[in-house]
Amino acid sequence: MARLSRLYQRGYQFLCRHIVLILVTLMCLGLGIGLAGSYNLSFQLVEAQAQQYASVTASTLNQTRGLYSENVVQELRSVEGVTISPEYHGIAGGIPNPATFSIELAERLSDRTKGSLVKLYSDYPFPNRAVTGGAQDGFEREALAYLKKNPSASFYRKEKMGERVTFRYAEAVRMKPSCVECHNMLPASPKKDWQVGDVRGVIAITQPLDSVLLIAQQGLRNIYAMLIIITVLAILGLSLVIGRFRLINVELEEKVEARTAELNRLVNLDGLTQIANRRHFDQTLDEEWRRAVRNPQPLSLLMCDVDFFKQYNDTYGHQAGDDCLRAVAQALKSSAQRAGETVARYGGEEFGIILPNIDSDDAVKLAKLIRKRLVGFQIPHATSKVDSYVTISIGIATLVPAAGQSWEALVEGADRALYEAKEQGRDRHAVWLPPVA
Ligand code: GH3
Ligand code: MG
Ligand code: MG
Repeated sequence: MARLSRLYQRGYQFLCRHIVLILVTLMCLGLGIGLAGSYNLSFQLVEAQAQQYASVTASTLNQTRGLYSENVVQELRSVEGVTISPEYHGIAGGIPNPATFSIELAERLSDRTKGSLVKLYSDYPFPNRAVTGGAQDGFEREALAYLKKNPSASFYRKEKMGERVTFRYAEAVRMKPSCVECHNMLPASPKKDWQVGDVRGVIAITQPLDSVLLIAQQGLRNIYAMLIIITVLAILGLSLVIGRFRLINVELEEKVEARTAELNRLVNLDGLTQIANRRHFDQTLDEEWRRAVRNPQPLSLLMCDVDFFKQYNDTYGHQAGDDCLRAVAQALKSSAQRAGETVARYGGEEFGIILPNIDSDDAVKLAKLIRKRLVGFQIPHATSKVDSYVTISIGIATLVPAAGQSWEALVEGADRALYEAKEQGRDRHAVWLPPVA
């Protein structure tokens, strides 16, 4: 299950990463299928149209022959002076028999210059058509053989004749009662045992498809060009939209990053004094302690506490107390500015300064500098028992951390030193000396 979900995830990621490529491929695929489909459809339509035309022509010819046979030949058979013959041209009062009538009508319907041909042929042609009246090529032979077995079907196919693509169609001509009698009696008839329904011959229709195909191809070319333009435009549009989305995404990511960074900053900041807060103090002390354990070096901590701050609040009010805390923070911050030094509000009117790689002597120097700077601020404190300005007491502790030792030892030491400074009268610093092992 987990494997499946991982596979799904990977597939989804792949899709997202290659979305443009995939969409373009799909569009091209769609375009290809569309083009192939329209190409096939146009050829099918051309063929269907040719078949329809051939079928109507064959039916017209069959009906005309039937009509001529029943309504003309039958009527005139008994009329004196009328001769019904395949060779009627040279006979006075001669009229064509129905087969000859159909053959001649078919010839008139043909247009050899355009390559369209309508013809009737048979495997029993009358002697005057012995040479041309039979099947002349492979198609005609196959059609005759097929239609003799399937008289009511039609036989057709597309075929190349010389340079031309043609559609060839054939239908059977079947013996009707009116025909049988005549054909079996006529002296020139090559077969005299015809029966009703026998396949007498074939109507074959040949139509060139070149010109129609040319029109279809021209139409197809226009459709292809249009489809390609539409696809290119769609791909361009898609790329633009995806590009825009990506840009928005990048912008959003940048905004989220900036917001996250700002939130992280705020999470570690003391709201009142705008220096690091207790959370950040604890985190930094832990990190620095670990670093000093890995790479043995002194780590110093200053704990600073405003003297008689309760009295300050009582004298000047809470707002002024806040301002005072901001000023003290400023004094500390501007004094401990080297890389790695962290000034934080530890709580209330107490501040902590973490000094990595600073030994006790340098820590003392910094404590003196801080106190001097704060005195320089000259913040009046009328109720202080040590000075007329705000002062602070500072406890200093320094340790080279040993493995297994906790940073709490350092805080405890600095706290003790601070207590010491307070005890000794305030407005001073005191140094905690770690017990000798
Ligand atoms: P000591 O010299 O022994 O340090 O005496 P102190 O009065 O400074 O110490 P104490 O702990 O008695 O009083 C600290 C006061 O600091 C009490 C509290 O109201 C005040 N305080 C703590 N946080 C704030 C703050 O954010 N703003 C203000 N205005 N006062 C605060
Ligand atoms: Mg205090
Ligand atoms: Mg205090």
